[in-house]
Amino acid sequence: MSDKNNYKKETILARAAIEDDIQYGAVIAPIHVTSTFTFDGVGNSRHYNYTRSGNPTRDKLGDAISSIENGAGCIVTSSGMSAILLSFHLIKQGDLIIAPHDCYGATFRLLNSYNDNGFFKVEFVNQTDEKALDEAFAKKPALILIETPSNPLLRVTDIKDICRRAKEVGALTVADNTFLSPVLQNPIDLGADVVVHSTTKYINGHSDVIGGCAIASTPELYEKLEWWGNNLGLTGAPLDSYLTLRGLRTIELRVKHQEETAQKIVEFLDNHPKVKKVNYPGLKSHKGHELAKAQQSGFGAMLSFEIDTDLDGISKFIEKINLFSLANSLGATESLIAHPATMTHSMMTDEARKNAGISDSLIRLSIGLEHSQDLINNLDEGLENV
Ligand code: PLP
Repeated sequence: MSDKNNYKKETILARAAIEDDIQYGAVIAPIHVTSTFTFDGVGNSRHYNYTRSGNPTRDKLGDAISSIENGAGCIVTSSGMSAILLSFHLIKQGDLIIAPHDCYGATFRLLNSYNDNGFFKVEFVNQTDEKALDEAFAKKPALILIETPSNPLLRVTDIKDICRRAKEVGALTVADNTFLSPVLQNPIDLGADVVVHSTTKYINGHSDVIGGCAIASTPELYEKLEWWGNNLGLTGAPLDSYLTLRGLRTIELRVKHQEETAQKIVEFLDNHPKVKKVNYPGLKSHKGHELAKAQQSGFGAMLSFEIDTDLDGISKFIEKINLFSLANSLGATESLIAHPATMTHSMMTDEARKNAGISDSLIRLSIGLEHSQDLINNLDEGLENV
């Protein structure tokens, strides 16, 4: 018999929770839609006793994600934000968190509100700036949150270097791997203590579930996260877990195809006279290109670009775009377009957005499974209208 631990990602994904129904031999695992489980007599809890603390469907999803992220275990949560929040429970009140100055807007809001309410101290730092990092590490942080490539500017942070430096000062590292998915980047292999995902994005991949997960690099960290997940009550629902597991099985095919299309779109945009700048780590001119090549196994299907226009021109551009849905998400089978300044990053102050480099003329694209030429033609029509 072949050793399960040696299977490649494709095999793990295709076989995730397949043929494990011992009652009827169903090929696809059943959905355990139950809030509670019977005890086998007084004081005799079975393996599962209450869905907040554990559920077979949710665990199957967690096991599959943990395997492809090379983790020791995974807590499936109700959203990406709750996975990030869960990771903060590994440190103590008053501790210092260092986060990227250009992180996802809701992460920025969460951290700021926790800072303002005195739960933690938070500093936002450009993690691609060595001097800023030196100053941040000198303050002895307890937790470093990494988000690479960053949302929406696709800045690439050196995961290995930050994790090494964090270990030197005894800090934990939490890497948000949502933008690339476990198919294209595995932060635990680069030294991260915890990886978080918004499974709403590539892992589920079909824009029909809000979910998240936190993958621990060690059994000790897994045990702590599992305890807090139950304690806080932020674990995911069985039906959502089932759908996410179904989406997960095709993630490799989806992401690789979307990446191919993204590269064609990047080439088109990079050569368009009305486009000022394209942010995509696959471009040789991108500041983080060499680092991305070293720590990622692909450049992904997310990109952003600046049009040489004002807010009115952005509206005219978006008016003509019908093959990209104007919506706040990413990583789905359908292409999505976002205007970060008024959507995903609108909760940041104007000053914080400016500091992060998010201008009013920035557009973010999440490339789906449509034909590349149709997408390019549609972007061309939009740009003609500016
Ligand atoms: N992290 C990143 C990088 C994201 O883009 C998002 C959502 O867009 C989140 C976390 C939060 O995930 P959720 O919306 O599932 O709570």
